[in-house]
Amino acid sequence: MCKNSPCIPTPDEVVRIIDAGYYKDMAVTTVLIPGQAYQCVMPKAVKDTSSETGERCVFLDHRGLCALHDKGLKPIEGRFALCGTTTLDSIKLRYMVLKTWADTALGKSILAIASEVKKITHG
Ligand code: SF4
Repeated sequence: MCKNSPCIPTPDEVVRIIDAGYYKDMAVTTVLIPGQAYQCVMPKAVKDTSSETGERCVFLDHRGLCALHDKGLKPIEGRFALCGTTTLDSIKLRYMVLKTWADTALGKSILAIASEVKKITHG
């Protein structure tokens, strides 16, 4: 994570991150997990030629630290994934966080509003 791809926040975490002024660093993204695709809003991935995937999380700073950490805004997946979880645990965690986007009124509302804003701004 971090050095290869961003972590996924819950909808209420996204509200706090955007309220803190980081809306330009967030994007609606389709995430694939085995057998399913989910939409969510998550930190953007930016190009990084030193990373295995060629990209990293926009919030990973030049010291290798999360810019959201000290502000108490680090997404739940980032908080738990850094604690030595196995690959299976990581997939389960990702699935549980993605379900908060598919199954909650707030998650659905944020995605619906983002879709409408995209129509307005992109015609
Ligand atoms: S923990 Fe912070 S730097 Fe790492 S992926 Fe999540 S938001 Fe990005």
